[in-house]
Amino acid sequence: MINNGFRVQFNSAIGPYKGGLRLHPSVNLGIIKFLGFEQIFKNSLTGLPIGGGKGGSDFDPKGKSDREVMAFCQSFITELYKYIGADTDVPAGDIGTGAREIGYMYGQYKRLTGLYEGVLTGKGLTYGGSLARTEATGYGLLYLTEEMLKCNGHDIAGKTVVVSGSGNVAIYAVQKAQQLGAKVVTVSDSTGWVYDPEGIDVALLKEVKEVKRARLTEYAAARPSAQYHDKASEGTNQWIIKCDVALPCATQNELNLEDAKTLVANGVMAVAEGANMPTTLEATKYLQENGVLFCPGKAANAGGVATSALEMSQNSERLSWTFEEVDSKLKNIMVNIFHNLDAAAKKYGMDGDYVAGANIAGFLKVAEAMTAQGIV
Ligand code: NDP
Repeated sequence: MINNGFRVQFNSAIGPYKGGLRLHPSVNLGIIKFLGFEQIFKNSLTGLPIGGGKGGSDFDPKGKSDREVMAFCQSFITELYKYIGADTDVPAGDIGTGAREIGYMYGQYKRLTGLYEGVLTGKGLTYGGSLARTEATGYGLLYLTEEMLKCNGHDIAGKTVVVSGSGNVAIYAVQKAQQLGAKVVTVSDSTGWVYDPEGIDVALLKEVKEVKRARLTEYAAARPSAQYHDKASEGTNQWIIKCDVALPCATQNELNLEDAKTLVANGVMAVAEGANMPTTLEATKYLQENGVLFCPGKAANAGGVATSALEMSQNSERLSWTFEEVDSKLKNIMVNIFHNLDAAAKKYGMDGDYVAGANIAGFLKVAEAMTAQGIV
């Protein structure tokens, strides 16, 4: 079996290329390019010095042994190591790339170069990883959502939340939403979704997904209040559940126009994207036209890459910050991102259009940096 690997180094005007490595059978150059393009503006929005890139492979880690995953990661880095480095390009995790994969990749980079440098982020805590990086994307999504609701006169506490996905972003989105007093009633994976009206049991979800690497059927089997729905046989998804806030946290194009209509009919108040471009263009327009507060992924999920940049800082100064230190910086960053895009939307006459606000605020910094650096 031969797999193809990709790395798109899109823009380095404001810092070294930075963006995740996706391992999923659907990966192709087009997907990596759209993710890399979005990453430029996302990274700009964080206010930190990071350029935009993305990479990955059509290798599928699902069902493979640790030994097989290690063999793939080592082959992948044997080619990629020539193009990356702490000041050149710093990849991170994404779908299918978690702490295990980053560890194997880091080991191979070190073996080939002899360098102990912050070349990858999402590393384990024993070799340069940052506290709160695992939680960062999901937590950040909730910090921003909380601020967006607050600035529009709502409180997240007491709200019913529907989450899609059950990976890294989804798990910590569920956890933080519950800590903020909301009730999360769904999670999903590529084959099915779970409705748990009593609220998702995060400890059980972590056990099933992070420890056993099992399917959501195991969650439902262990939890009497949960109902499992098979996507293929039922033709349904979690967006049919009535909620105040919807957080798509699985993958691109997972919330389409039909889903948007259902959400609006059920009275949804806010949608914030934990995944990258989960909402189709038509669905985004429909939600906005119907008065739903909508925050695009390039802003809402920027907490992951922001904390990766904090990991780079810690690696450079060879220090480790506490969980509270990183988490409070993350919260500040997310609140600032929301206010920046809100202000940009207002300044350009599109009050409340956070899609336009994020695009404008993210673009301006990159454009100014590129112009200042001349034609190179
Ligand atoms: P994980 O691999 O940890 O989890 C992905 C989740 O989405 C799983 O539940 C998976 O189900 C589901 N999923 C993946 N592909 C599909 C598909 N084609 N159809 C339906 N469900 C699917 O990935 P992450 O949580 O890290 O990433 C989720 C999203 O968030 C992605 O869009 C990613 O780009 C984005 N993101 C991630 C960041 C991070 O820090 N990790 C940062 C910013 C954005 P199954 O197990 O069945 O495959």
